[in-house]
Amino acid sequence: SKAMHNPNHGHGPRKKPRVSAPAHLPSKEPIQMQRQQLPIYAGKDAVIDVIRQNDVTVLIGETGSGKTTQVPQYLFEAGLAGSGMIAVTQPRRVAATSLASRVASEKQTSVGSLVGYSVRFDEASSSNTKIKYLTDGMIVRELLGDPLLSRYSVVIVDEAHERTLRTDLLIANLKTILQARNGPTRSGKDDRGKGKGKAQESSGKLNPLKVVIMSATLEAEKFSRFFGGAKVVYVKGRQHPVTIYHTATSQPDYVDAALRTFFQVHLDQGPGDVLIFLPGQEDIESLEKSIQLYANQLPKDSLGVMILPLYASLQPARQAKIFASTPSGMRKVILATNIAETSITIPGVKYVIDTGKCKEKRYVAKNTGTGFDTLLTRDITQSSAVQRAGRAGREGKGYCFRLYTEDAFKKMPRTAEPEIRRCTLTSSLLQLKCLGQDLEELDFMDKPDAESIVSALKTLFLLGALDHTKSLTPLGRQMAAFPLEPPLARALVASAELGCTSEILTILSVLSASSKLFVDTHDAREEAADARKKFRHASGDHMTVLNVVKAYEDVSQSESKKARTDWCRRMFVNERCLAEAANIRAQLRDVCEKTSMDWKVSAEGQGQDGEARVLRAMVAGLVQNTAFLQPDGSYKQVMGPSVVKIHPSSSLADKKVPAIIYDELVYTTQIYARGVSAVPRSFIAEVPVLKRRTS
Ligand code: ADP
Ligand code: MG
Repeated sequence: SKAMHNPNHGHGPRKKPRVSAPAHLPSKEPIQMQRQQLPIYAGKDAVIDVIRQNDVTVLIGETGSGKTTQVPQYLFEAGLAGSGMIAVTQPRRVAATSLASRVASEKQTSVGSLVGYSVRFDEASSSNTKIKYLTDGMIVRELLGDPLLSRYSVVIVDEAHERTLRTDLLIANLKTILQARNGPTRSGKDDRGKGKGKAQESSGKLNPLKVVIMSATLEAEKFSRFFGGAKVVYVKGRQHPVTIYHTATSQPDYVDAALRTFFQVHLDQGPGDVLIFLPGQEDIESLEKSIQLYANQLPKDSLGVMILPLYASLQPARQAKIFASTPSGMRKVILATNIAETSITIPGVKYVIDTGKCKEKRYVAKNTGTGFDTLLTRDITQSSAVQRAGRAGREGKGYCFRLYTEDAFKKMPRTAEPEIRRCTLTSSLLQLKCLGQDLEELDFMDKPDAESIVSALKTLFLLGALDHTKSLTPLGRQMAAFPLEPPLARALVASAELGCTSEILTILSVLSASSKLFVDTHDAREEAADARKKFRHASGDHMTVLNVVKAYEDVSQSESKKARTDWCRRMFVNERCLAEAANIRAQLRDVCEKTSMDWKVSAEGQGQDGEARVLRAMVAGLVQNTAFLQPDGSYKQVMGPSVVKIHPSSSLADKKVPAIIYDELVYTTQIYARGVSAVPRSFIAEVPVLKRRTS
């Protein structure tokens, strides 16, 4: 069945699918009927029973079978929440928020009442909340205030197969929490008395905990073994056959190949929506433009094309459109990252186009000497390829067009390496230190490697969060209170001493927003550059951010909402970023208040001295992201071996200044520093840990 297709020559698949009537349209049926049609409904009682009888259950089921939306409701209806809550963790925030709104509407309530969510910088819950969808990062953060997660009766670890760093941290902690809350004997056969102290001190008072590990792929054994032989339950999915086609040759320009393949499907094949997997937002936006361009030229009587992007930072409102049923006379094409692989199931998809690429967070310490994660585009794994193809067979026979050769598929790794083996551990190590734990000692599914631990220890030491005996300092504890990466948290703490917290909060909020501050334009590059000049600050990008926010606030005060939006368009400023930043700033301000940090203190109106203080605070956080100008015009890292260039998007691009700090490195054909400010060399030399290297 594995035929070839060639997206370059307009040949359709050899085996032409028969045109068939669309499968049933579940979204037009009452929501309660839809619930009963999900595959998991048949196993409802069995699922509830197993979870009731076991401390830990591993639940495996095909994507779309109803695990994430139904199981929490079943457990709630069966009374398993007791006086506590049911937590459902997700690796991605957009999944957490959209699942919460889906389940809230199934329960005929609004989000934030019975069903809520909690993601970084955003929360919707109340004292009535019984089912809470949260990111794995948020529940790990909750451990800091509630080490036994006592407010939860059930913790459902969803998408466990993704093995994100936070999920692995959570799973490791759940093992000790189970022993503390349920007593050592009940939590598994593999118990060697770890965490007994805590258990004895608190047993009797605590409500027992149920843990459910949910996953789409078959990694059940490993999870079960980790919990000392946990019960495994399989949910039968509703999977129809999917015919898979590979290309005859490799397709280096996968966006173009996807475009051609889409129009082959659109023009030659029967009804059914199309789902295209791409690595990231940029490719999605570029493909969206080209599909639109060609779709506009189609004859008037042909099927219309409705393009829907889907990526992690997309606002929930735009994302909700994906689930709406396709209008008649239209074909939906969803351009998605691997978020649509398992987290979000889109009804109506019959054709999948798979570029075979994804973005993966990876730690690049080896070539830079500093601990930073970057997103790199790489080939997917076999298990991802199988998941992607499976999206076409949810409602009937489906077709998957892989934009890579069968040979390339065979050469893909079977599964991805867990994040704990390839990402920066700095922020996790700081959180564990606050819990009195250590990366070396905690019982993980897979141990982090020694090199990454050393690098995390080094970063935290340089930031002053750990002392030379690797113990947590008061400064480290203060930093951990903020939902920020340790370098940014350090800048914030420094701003208190330097009297510029208000400015630093503004800068950090914009840096933490999911979209960029400036709109990227290919069409009006010169106009954009002209507009941008109005905000440009001589010292570089950090002060420029402040200028933009200040200008926006002025417009907001004096003008209407529409005028404000117009202003943003004229200035090529992304209003969504500013709105999100304002929200983030409010959240960070709350944390400041809780930790008695004066967030009002400002350097405004203090001229160059004020500006210098803002930059000094940034230097305190970005100690590892500092570089000095070299005779040849490039910049050499102070703390690492790399030679970097200033990114073309920076207001300092092509400028030669003695020393710079930067937000991050971007790897393309060379190493670029992005988010750059020029600082006097003396600011860098002032930092005690850098003194030796700069003299
Ligand atoms: P699983 O976790 O097993 O992959 P889910 O519980 O996430 O399955 O989804 C079950 C079904 O519910 C999906 O196949 C999809 O059709 C439907 N669904 C999920 N979220 C939404 C939503 N926001 N809007 C409409 N339908 C949805
Ligand atoms: Mg799910």
